[in-house]
Amino acid sequence: PPDATPPEKLSPMLEQYIEIKTANPGSLLFYRMGDFYELFFEDAEVASRALGIVLTKRGKHQGQDIPMCGVPIHRSDEYLHRLIALGHRVAVCEQLEDPSEAKKRGSKSVVKRDVVRLVTPGTLTEDTLLDARRNNYLLAIARARLSSVGTETRFGLAWIDMSTGEFRITECDRIMLSAEIARLEPGEILISDSLNTDIELIPLWRELPAVTPLGRDVFDSATAERRLTSFFAVATSDGFGALTRLEITAAAAAVTYIERTQIGQRPPLSPPLREAVASTMAIDQATRGNLELMRTLSGERRGSLLDCIDRTVTSAGSRLLAQRLSAPLTDVNAIARRLDAVACFVDDVAARADTRSRLAAAPDLARALTRIALQRGGPRDLAAVRDGIAAAHELARALAAIKDAPDEIADALGHCRKVDFALADELGRALGDELPLIKRDGSFVREGYDAALDDNRALRDESRRVIAALQARYADETGVKALKIKHNNVLGYFVEVTALNADKMLQPPLNATFIHRQTLAGQVRFTSTELGELEAKIASAADRALGLELDIFERLCAAVIAQGNAIKQCAEALARLDVASSLAALAAERGFARPLVDDSLTFAIEAGRHPVVEQALSRDGTPFVANDSDLSPPTEAQAGRIWLITGPNMAGKSTFLRQNALIAILAQMGSFVPAKAAHIGVIDRLFSRVGAADDLARGRSTFMVEMVETAAILNQAGNRALVILDEIGRGTATFDGLSIAWATVEHLHDINTCRALFATHYHELTALSARLPRLHNVTMKVKEWKGDVVFLHEVVAGAADRSYGIQVAKLAGLPPSVIERAKVVLAKLEQEDRAAPKGFEDLPLFAANYQPPAPSSEPTHERLIAAVAAINPDEMSPREAMEALYNLKARL
Ligand code: ADP
Repeated sequence: PPDATPPEKLSPMLEQYIEIKTANPGSLLFYRMGDFYELFFEDAEVASRALGIVLTKRGKHQGQDIPMCGVPIHRSDEYLHRLIALGHRVAVCEQLEDPSEAKKRGSKSVVKRDVVRLVTPGTLTEDTLLDARRNNYLLAIARARLSSVGTETRFGLAWIDMSTGEFRITECDRIMLSAEIARLEPGEILISDSLNTDIELIPLWRELPAVTPLGRDVFDSATAERRLTSFFAVATSDGFGALTRLEITAAAAAVTYIERTQIGQRPPLSPPLREAVASTMAIDQATRGNLELMRTLSGERRGSLLDCIDRTVTSAGSRLLAQRLSAPLTDVNAIARRLDAVACFVDDVAARADTRSRLAAAPDLARALTRIALQRGGPRDLAAVRDGIAAAHELARALAAIKDAPDEIADALGHCRKVDFALADELGRALGDELPLIKRDGSFVREGYDAALDDNRALRDESRRVIAALQARYADETGVKALKIKHNNVLGYFVEVTALNADKMLQPPLNATFIHRQTLAGQVRFTSTELGELEAKIASAADRALGLELDIFERLCAAVIAQGNAIKQCAEALARLDVASSLAALAAERGFARPLVDDSLTFAIEAGRHPVVEQALSRDGTPFVANDSDLSPPTEAQAGRIWLITGPNMAGKSTFLRQNALIAILAQMGSFVPAKAAHIGVIDRLFSRVGAADDLARGRSTFMVEMVETAAILNQAGNRALVILDEIGRGTATFDGLSIAWATVEHLHDINTCRALFATHYHELTALSARLPRLHNVTMKVKEWKGDVVFLHEVVAGAADRSYGIQVAKLAGLPPSVIERAKVVLAKLEQEDRAAPKGFEDLPLFAANYQPPAPSSEPTHERLIAAVAAINPDEMSPREAMEALYNLKARL
């Protein structure tokens, strides 16, 4: 509808503001005004609320005050960080010319401004905005429905860490999509509008912190190849390896987004590297959380596996370690290659110590390089490049002594040597000892590096000496001994005398030389022609010096960028050496052993330990009890074993379960493991259902969460999977829970045929071992001592006979009266149970779900005879006997 109010004449600045704001919807606009970024209208309201800064007003628009708030330039990083963390995007609008230029065009003319960068969670480069120890990924997800194979949906994934230039792509299905997102923990996810509104996927997007939907053009597969190749300035994408159309689409979306947010600046991305399908162990979000890989259940890094194993000495090494931990490999050769490198540093103590102390002094090369390439670098970034290259070369020289260096180390050293040392040398000669953060502060080029610069600096400094001489002369000429020449930003250079002496200066003949400028309470200030001329000379020399320094800065940056690729590979090599040597340090310090990882289905751990629990216990001197496990298939079978673990609470069941999963993860990420020996047939997927935490945010009860996770396991685990299940069915009524646990074990054994550890407090389940040949009962050994229970934390064959719940409750400090009362109630219940064992009526329920093995060709009577022969009545509980009867019947 037409606006009734006549169009208002906007001020030129407001007109410019509105134009820029309209061109950048969806972002808060940081509009540069001198030393501030200012925000107006709604942006001001949003930002002042989010940042807790004062909301004021400036001018009027359509009769209303315009809300305004401002952020000082020197604190803008901090405010940006907070806004980004809160999920906002920020468009940074700079002044593109000196205000004096605008003034020349006329008094009404506004300074040219435009957005130079969109700051989004996935495209950060500043150290202040990033966690040095974590990658920050931008992940683009493209989708295709493959009609040829029914309605299967495939996803193309492309992820970039813009701060380091890493760029990877892969393709996956719907199930793996969640696992991949869980692995990468992207800072920002790009999807198409249509994916954003897809009914099936909405719940997934809702759980993620920063999802950015983009128009169809960004995900257009027809133009994808062209956009991708033009970003890398290559003729075809063939050089990137055989990529699928879907991968190219995702990759193109990611680079298009980077182009749009960086506005003309190109980060030095590596060409996209394809991750082969299933090249990493799939670990879903629930399992990652449960196992506390990267952070604990309460969200802290401290106490996580990562924290426990991280001995890296560089930020890049720490990032790589986190990356490897979240994506253990499945290729046995690649795993062995990494293990070789760790082993080399385990054996060669001197090389390890040398490497670590040299790396500790090396800077974050990758992130410095990126900032330089994006024109956001400062003198200290150049120094980082200088020191990084020098460290790499020295390391390569020092490690050349290693005999028969394994491939991984030899290759890394090769990359360390490849960057031209002349560049470090040049930077070393050019840069001074003390460097400012920003280049405009100047004084970062070393004296003696550039003759023209030295001349101008000499002129500048010489002029300062001339001023000192002038002061002495003026004091002499005027007879005012206390006369001083001073400088401030308002007046520039001036002559200052006390008020007492001022009169003299204002009288002939001195008033011919000194021109009055300012009278203060105690002082009077003057200038003179000579002083003015000197000042101009100083200023222009200083300006010229700074200009020359900035030219030198640009030249050095160009030299760095020219070697960008080699520098990036060198940075990666340093990170790899850090990871290998730090894992070796860990292995040496904690007594870890090299695991054997092969293509079998073996899972045999000798004297395994839980790395995190062990570390925690060692703080108060408690030894950790090591335990064996063996889930390897029996001879000739292609299906792994299930260990059913019973034992009272607090006996160490969960610890045992988790330690086996953690050992597998460590082994496949290429680390030594906390065990005496470990032989692991590659695990392709790891599942766990441990602990019980309400997911109230999603409106799911503990039991519902548990069942959703169990369903995922039973539906997806193949025979290469490792499954860890703790206390299934605990969240519901006893018989419900028992039946679900029972049927779950049967399904795992017969259908999934995977290696599994199953801890339960349902002792009834141990009866299943009579029927399921690969089910093995173990229990946590406990000792009763004077009515108390002592946990030995030892895993032994057999089943627990009691649950010791009351003893555990006593240990926990329940009041003695409650303990006594519970003992009475228990005795009564047990008595009643013996009199009328009501559990037995429910047994058919368990057997009914059981699918007898496919009928064999053996005649019925022979099978029956064999089955009866296998029964050992002396070792059976009444319940097991009942169960055996039902089984016999099922075989008829
Ligand atoms: P459960 O799952 O049987 O209730 P947990 O695995 O939670 O028991 O273990 C309880 C506590 O026992 C742990 O916090 C740890 O302090 C201790 N513990 C567990 N396993 C061991 C072990 N192998 N050696 C020493 N202490 C252990």
